[in-house]
Amino acid sequence: MLSGVRKSFASFDVIHGIDLEIAEGSFVVFVGPSGCGKSTLLRMIAGLEEVTDGEIEIKGRNVTDLDPSDRGIAMVFQSYALYPHMSVRENLAFGLKMAKTAAAEIETRVKAASGILKIEHLLDRRPGQLSGGQRQRVAIGRAIVRKPDVFLFDEPLSNLDAELRVSMRIEIARLHRELGNTMIYVTHDQTEAMTLADKIVVLRDGRIEQVGTPREVYENPANVFVAGFIGSPRMNLLEAAWTGDGTIRIAGTVIPAPIAAGKLSAGDRLTFGVRPEHFVVAEAGAETLKAKVDFSEYLGGTQYLYCQLEDGQTVTAEHRSQLAIEAGDTVHLASETTERRFFDANGQRLAG
Ligand code: ATP
Repeated sequence: MLSGVRKSFASFDVIHGIDLEIAEGSFVVFVGPSGCGKSTLLRMIAGLEEVTDGEIEIKGRNVTDLDPSDRGIAMVFQSYALYPHMSVRENLAFGLKMAKTAAAEIETRVKAASGILKIEHLLDRRPGQLSGGQRQRVAIGRAIVRKPDVFLFDEPLSNLDAELRVSMRIEIARLHRELGNTMIYVTHDQTEAMTLADKIVVLRDGRIEQVGTPREVYENPANVFVAGFIGSPRMNLLEAAWTGDGTIRIAGTVIPAPIAAGKLSAGDRLTFGVRPEHFVVAEAGAETLKAKVDFSEYLGGTQYLYCQLEDGQTVTAEHRSQLAIEAGDTVHLASETTERRFFDANGQRLAG
């Protein structure tokens, strides 16, 4: 649990006061743009970075001032951080030896961890004789042998190629299922965040923008930042105006907006959000947006249409039908009422 956690480097505030409860056994992923403070937050939990203000509790114990080795955590780094002159077996055993664990116990744990990660046949090799994926397995193995309460992962898959990332991602999910430990994971990869997380924590400039399940942050983003950050291609966020009578006007089209409009007056700007997969090419109708296709990308099962509305705003639509649409075509884009999102001038979600 984090309470009021802050971090400044000299006079520069990087983390502005974070309160976060992490359920035991859950898989929590910190995401956010580069420099938002994800790694700093993780490193404070690990004890590798001092907390400027606030408290960190792990399993009910205040660990804020404890050394990393006394916190019941184990961290896996992007760079693996293996000892090059030691064998895999020695790398796995090193932390336990330092903690003066009995030799028999070390052997049992190394055997169990290498079994879980399927690296038994690599135990006598050195890190230099391993592939990137195998090295990352050893790095994870080194965390497992310590039997931590909490696993911390800092972009562990960033150095792997695309195919290996997918298979290691699945292995990490399997590991979580098998071990049942709390895992906290930092990534800028949305797919990793969506597929691994029980809870996603979206950060921006050292503040939490939203905490929710992958489905919650995707379907019900709290604000335009989360709406634009989660999902690829990103959600269309279009400028619109409140008409004053339960509808918005956008590029000449009037669309019903079932929102609690208490504070809005006619003419107020707001943002209309629809995900590309929810803009469907349709017959022209009262609520459709007329758009000219600037560019189209054919991806086999689906086609992305990059279009321009009559007022110049750009829109992306994901077109799944076999009907070919090409640059220069005019389309009419329809959206279901349930797939429309509205945000006020400050970017906050307007609820229905
Ligand atoms: P990335 O995805 O690029 O790794 P991040 O979200 O993990 O980014 P952090 O590495 O936590 O971001 O950095 C957050 C901010 O703190 C950045 O602006 C960074 O420049 C700054 N920062 C990090 N470490 C230090 C340090 N030791 N001294 C001064 N500033 C630092």
